[in-house]
Amino acid sequence: MATHELEVVIIGAGPAGLCAGMYAGRSMLKNVVLEQGLPGGELLNTEVIEDYIGFEHVLGYELADKFNAHAIKFAADVRTYHRVERVRRTADGTFETVMENGDIFASPAVIVTAGGTPIKLEIPGEIEYAGKGVSYCAICDGAFFKQHTIMVVGGGDAACEEADFLTRYAAKVYLVHRRDAFRASKIVQQRVFNNPKIEVIWDTVVDEIAGAEGLMTHAKIRNLKSGERRDLQATGLFIFVGFRPNTGIIEGHIEHDASGYLITDANMETSIRGLFAAGDVRAQLTRQVTTAVGDATTAAIAVEKYLTARKNGAPPPQPQPMLTARGTG
Ligand SMILES: Cc1cc2nc3c(=O)[nH]c(=O)nc-3n(C[C@H](O)[C@H](O)[C@H](O)COP(=O)(O)OP(=O)(O)OC[C@H]3O[C@@H](n4cnc5c(N)ncnc54)[C@H](O)[C@@H]3O)c2cc1C
Repeated sequence: MATHELEVVIIGAGPAGLCAGMYAGRSMLKNVVLEQGLPGGELLNTEVIEDYIGFEHVLGYELADKFNAHAIKFAADVRTYHRVERVRRTADGTFETVMENGDIFASPAVIVTAGGTPIKLEIPGEIEYAGKGVSYCAICDGAFFKQHTIMVVGGGDAACEEADFLTRYAAKVYLVHRRDAFRASKIVQQRVFNNPKIEVIWDTVVDEIAGAEGLMTHAKIRNLKSGERRDLQATGLFIFVGFRPNTGIIEGHIEHDASGYLITDANMETSIRGLFAAGDVRAQLTRQVTTAVGDATTAAIAVEKYLTARKNGAPPPQPQPMLTARGTG
């Protein structure tokens, strides 16, 4: 067990963490970026990215490599296979980031960029066809399905909104829901019912995703009331049954929205002084690589100003938390 003294600890090395690390390094802050796996975050689960400005077509792992190399070049201390177990605020208002092996990183500021995880259906074919038909992100992958017949699974706001959005590309969208009514707000439901390209399939679950030559071709669905099973032909399946932000590591009460996303002010500071959040873990309208790096830029620069003010006496007053949109999960 060892204790390391730093100025800022960044948790997670996805786009947000690597970008925050790069800016912290450029500001010559003594930093560490702690990542439980390899650097890149969700980029490593994304085959192709076509909406990161400046890169018309880039493979997820290639962008991850570029982010990592850039961050390290500007003195981000990226440590892979370093899992954070918890973050606690100490009596003097600084933080201890406790690692799985018991090591402690002590710092006056922490940026949480731990992202989140889309909830899976956990059915056969879901992993096999991920990126080959199966997706958890309409804005990212919708354009790959121009004039296709696709499916959306879920019944909340995200599923209904994204089904409606996907009809910009798809010729037809089946919206499969396990109950006989949506949980989505009435106005969003109305958009679904008014959209002639959407066909709702009630009381139904997907049992299996199947395909040929490495691409999804259909799903095996089952009506929960009648027990009837059938194959539904579709080349894409978008799953919106929830998204879990990785916030469990933070000890103590911290403001969050109804879906568990961290609420921050305009400087990305949370309700805990000195604890900042950026990227998918934060409550905001959308979750993309662009928003993750934008948040991280603000957070890292705000940390630098926070630390300078702290050294000179008192930190500047904390702005009021922003009103935030609900999570999209
Ligand atoms: C399938 C899919 C496709 C997508 N396609 C696109 C796209 O085409 N374009 C686009 O702009 N966006 C896309 N996105 C969204 C984009 O990937 C995310 O918005 C972005 O990765 C968020 O970055 P982040 O750094 O906030 O979080 P993440 O990328 O989730 O990174 C978080 C990191 O924190 C680490 N971590 C978590 N907990 C701990 C812990 N306790 N200790 C240490 N490390 C920890 C994780 O291992 C991970 O590496 C896609 C998302 C998915 C799921």
